[in-house]
Parts: sequence; C-alpha cells; structure tokens
Amino acid sequence: MANSIDKLYFSQLALSTYMTCQLKFRRRYLEELYWPRPATPALELGNDFHAAAERYFLTGEKEEYPPPLGKMLENLYTFRPLEPGAVFLPEQQLRLSSDIKLVAKYDLIVLADRVYIYDWKTDRKKIRKTYFQSSMQTRVYRYLLVAGGSGYWGGRIIKPRDVVMCYWNPNYPYEPLYLEYTDRRFKQDAAAINSLISEIRNRPWEEFLTAGDNRACLVCEYSPLCHGKPGIEDDDFETDLSLSWDEIEEIPY
Ligand code: SF4
Repeated sequence: MANSIDKLYFSQLALSTYMTCQLKFRRRYLEELYWPRPATPALELGNDFHAAAERYFLTGEKEEYPPPLGKMLENLYTFRPLEPGAVFLPEQQLRLSSDIKLVAKYDLIVLADRVYIYDWKTDRKKIRKTYFQSSMQTRVYRYLLVAGGSGYWGGRIIKPRDVVMCYWNPNYPYEPLYLEYTDRRFKQDAAAINSLISEIRNRPWEEFLTAGDNRACLVCEYSPLCHGKPGIEDDDFETDLSLSWDEIEEIPY
C-alpha cells in the first residue's frame, strides 16, 4: 500500500469520497493517483472570494472589486461585520490525532457567546438544508471542533451546545443556514465517524468497490481509467487536504 492508511488524516472529503465510490477513495488516498483539476472561472472566483474574506477578517479592511466579486464581498461585510468582543479566526486548520485521525479546514471560526463555524459556498446553487443538515462536512466539522478544538476558546471546553455551524452563499445573502449541535448528535457522529474509519482501515485492497451510481463517474477524474473516456468538468469539485496540506489548498465550495 503506497500510503499507509494508519497515517492518513481523514477529511470530510475523504470520507465523502469513500461513501460515493470506494475505488475512487483507494485511487486518490491509497494509490495517491491524485491531481488537481484545471481552474475554471467559477473556481477562481471562489478562490478570490475566500482569500479576500480571509484578509477582511484578519485586518478589518474592506476591499473593492468590480462585480461579481465586489458584490459578493459587500454582501459578506453586511452579513458578518467585525464586532467588538468577538474573536475572528479565518482559515483555521484543525487536526485530531487519537484512535482516529481527522482533519478539517474551517473558513471562519468566531468565538463569541458561542463558537460559530462559517463555511462559504460560492457556487450557483442555493444551500439546501436537506443536504447540509446531515452532510459529511457538517458531521466532521462540528464533531472535530468539539472533540479537539477546546484550545481555541481560551482553554474552555467546547460542548456540543456551544457550537453553531453556518453555511452561507454570498450570491444568496439572505439565506444563511444555521445548524445547532447537541450532545445526542455529537455521540451519533462520534460513533458513525469511528465506525466508518474502522471499516475503511480494515477493508481488503481488492474489495474497494466501484460506485453504485454511474452519475458519480461523470464528474470523476478517474473516468478515463474506469470507462476509457474523461468525465465532464464540475465547478463544485473540491480539492483535498488529507494528502499533503503543505501543497494543496482545500476549496470547500
Ligand atoms: S469513474 Fe466511477 S467507478 Fe471509477 S473511480 Fe470514478 S466514481 Fe469510481
């Protein structure tokens, strides 16, 4: 095995990839057949938005650009102004190294009356509650912050009820999705994430199976290997930080 699975830090994208197609997971994370896709205008716009948002929350300076980026940033400054008394931590990476290894990169963590996780979605689609309320990203991000993030809050223990996750798309500024957390959901997430990682670690090499849904193949970079022809470009494509954080930026759109 090219990459020892015991050393792998699992991101939400790695776990989502496994759920979509076990063979894709094996190729990307164990065989290390990984390459970034060419940038599209939508991906570049998302990148620019994330970078400008990070600078804003670090410096407080509002930058002006022509549309569409300028309008997206105006919406951000209105939606989440810097407020006295709160601590704004953009682009935070958190790793958990216990029985399981997990990693996540947060667009923004705000320490205030509670601990707020913000995730910017810059694609053309509206944020769907039915998807995100139980998505792997939601489960991993909230679980990891509670399980390993207490150092952030001045040493205070972060309890599930302290955490609120917010998905927000600057193209739909009045439709944020806030997701509360509970002790029950935390226990469920702990069990589910541990069980899934254990399953992956114990799966025999030849039993990483292909996707059950052929639509996954349409946007998969390994389509030439499996089907002899490339898939279609997907602006929602996410790069990952499980393999080499130093070299790869996660683009969590
Ligand atoms: S092309 Fe389809 S079967 Fe092959 S790795 Fe990708 S998702 Fe899996």
